[in-house]
Amino acid sequence: MNKSNFLHQQISKVYGVGPAYVKRLKKLGVSTVRDLLYYYPKKHEDLTKVKNIADLKESDKEQTVRVKLLEIENVRTRRKRMFLTKAIFEDQGGEVNAVWFNQPYLSRTFKEDQFYLLSGKIKRDYNGFVFQNPKYELVKGEQVHAGRIVPVYRETEGLSSKWLRHKIKLVLGAADEVKEFLPESIIKSQKFYEVGRALKQIHFPESQTTLKEAKKRLSFEELFLVQLVALGNKKKWEEKQAVGIKFDQKLAKDFVQSLPFKLTKAQKVTAWEILKNLQKTTPMNRLLEGDVGSGKTVVAAMAILMVVQNKYQVSMMVPTEILAKQHFRSLSELLKKHKIKVGLLTSKEVLDNGGKKISKKDLIKKVKEGKIDLLIGTHALIEKEIGFKNLGLVIIDEQHRFGVEQRAVLHSKAKKFPHFLSMTATPIPRTLALSMFGDLDLSIIDELPKGRKKILTKVVSSEKRNDAYKFVDDKVKEGRQVFVICPLIEKSDKLGVKSATQEYQKLSREIFPDLKIGLLHGRLSAKGGPASGGKKDEKAKIMDQFRDGKLDILVSTSVVEVGVDIPNATIMMIEGAERFGLAQLHQFRGRVGRSEYQSYCFLFPTSLDSISMPRLKALEKNNDGFKLAEIDLEHRGPGEVYGKSQSGYFYDFKLANPTDVVMTQQARKEAEKILKEDPGLKKYNLLKKKVSSVEVLMHRE
Ligand code: ADP
Ligand code: MG
Repeated sequence: MNKSNFLHQQISKVYGVGPAYVKRLKKLGVSTVRDLLYYYPKKHEDLTKVKNIADLKESDKEQTVRVKLLEIENVRTRRKRMFLTKAIFEDQGGEVNAVWFNQPYLSRTFKEDQFYLLSGKIKRDYNGFVFQNPKYELVKGEQVHAGRIVPVYRETEGLSSKWLRHKIKLVLGAADEVKEFLPESIIKSQKFYEVGRALKQIHFPESQTTLKEAKKRLSFEELFLVQLVALGNKKKWEEKQAVGIKFDQKLAKDFVQSLPFKLTKAQKVTAWEILKNLQKTTPMNRLLEGDVGSGKTVVAAMAILMVVQNKYQVSMMVPTEILAKQHFRSLSELLKKHKIKVGLLTSKEVLDNGGKKISKKDLIKKVKEGKIDLLIGTHALIEKEIGFKNLGLVIIDEQHRFGVEQRAVLHSKAKKFPHFLSMTATPIPRTLALSMFGDLDLSIIDELPKGRKKILTKVVSSEKRNDAYKFVDDKVKEGRQVFVICPLIEKSDKLGVKSATQEYQKLSREIFPDLKIGLLHGRLSAKGGPASGGKKDEKAKIMDQFRDGKLDILVSTSVVEVGVDIPNATIMMIEGAERFGLAQLHQFRGRVGRSEYQSYCFLFPTSLDSISMPRLKALEKNNDGFKLAEIDLEHRGPGEVYGKSQSGYFYDFKLANPTDVVMTQQARKEAEKILKEDPGLKKYNLLKKKVSSVEVLMHRE
């Protein structure tokens, strides 16, 4: 490294960055000047058009001010029965009023003494100028120079956006030292900014146009690198050998005819995609997506059947004991006619084919000897001691960790590889899947079986709560069952969150004293909770009681989220609904609507604010998980929507929007082109290095 090179200097070399700041910056992942340059603003405040209040005019054209809130209140108009929210703001030179119609929650969204950008039409009344329904944005209170676009940085304790802005400005010149790693041909054909210019403009843009160009270039490079990694993995994958699974048409037909229902078109299509893929001698690496209740299990069953028919074994891994048991039950039933021997292995329960108890040791022995065709279990399945005689297919259900297990296999030296099928009810739009798991093939079940009734969904206000309870009571008397989901286990007054325990007590003592109510949460002991006498897994026991109709209502935390199938349950009530993401709420809702009975979902929010209300309303309107995922993604990043901790395979994009269809596909195309021209990236040394470092990041779990 060149000594005169400022770019690679430690951050402590920057003027005014003492040891305390070095520590804080480290928390943001910043230790060199270069890192600081790559600490992008989380947004920009456009003050180019900001006016002083004194310069406002009555006009239908949008005008913008940067102001402090003095006071805000709701007023109900008598004649028209409307809500008005009235506010007064000030800047150095004067005061201005604002009014919003029928959005009473705004009085709680706004905070006095905080600063906002307001933009909108201005009318004049007896009080002076009034903004009519202006758009608003909370901004930091510090003094900033109006007349330019100001970067706003994500802060951490002891590091303000203002401080960061100042330091980044100091080191901005080092952007010219950053070496270009994108191939010149791409920069030319896409008319991208060179890296140095892009870095400068992302921090201190001259205009909205240069900001957009900078973002475009820097987002592209992230997507491009991820695509290069994905394509590289795909290639490695394709070099591996698997056993081809012969397709037996008669068997497939028999199976389909033995089902108590007709497969949907989407089920047929995806099953066919999978079966065709299994015939190949390169291992399948496929993600099967389908909304809750879309019937993924039968599709998997067909694959299992075909693999076993070819004299190979299947292992199926699921995230929870409850799901494992459920799959054991339903797959044993589905495959009974075909004499497939199914085993269950979790850390709590070990069952032989037919459901008889067996010791773990004996089951493992049978698996090794090939006497079990399908082994279902939790993570216990990947313990080293478990060896198969001839594993042909690995199925991973509801894991959100697609690719992780597959990659583990990639590094193994085995001669033959099993095929992989991941399944998820988390609707990931096709393009997002392409940027996140570019090396996976995708099959999507995009319809529900016929005859499923739309689940009637309602956001219930506190005034209507008793009506909802009355409704529930009636339905239970008709024989139906009810889920109640609560966000946290422990009482948490501060957050106003209903705890499952509290809710359980309230419902059983006060609301429904004559109904049978059960409580399920993650802390119920696995090895037998306090009430179980330590004998049976308490969670499973309660689940069984509910399934057998011995409980009318099941109060639960989010443990029932995945895959539970109890057709007689037709009401889903969700407390503190605004605390869950749309995707998750949709998953909860999917627990009902599994029978001919009309099903219902009641959302009880603890507070109705401007952010959560439209989200919950979207749930009333939409029953389609993919649609909801898209709405959710517009508001929140993929990491938030799908849960970073679970995702395993997420690359943490700093800037890029992985749901951007056009750019993702563009990045994919360019990556394919480069790899075709130069598979080893021999001519692109710097790019190659970048790709490896991204690869390391993506593989970190
Ligand atoms: P998921 O995709 O959420 O895993 P499941 O496979 O558990 O869904 O299926 C949900 C329910 O729908 C099951 O009870 C299953 O038997 C039933 N089912 C699956 N396919 C169909 C179909 N084509 N028609 C009617 N019912 C079906
Ligand atoms: Mg399922």
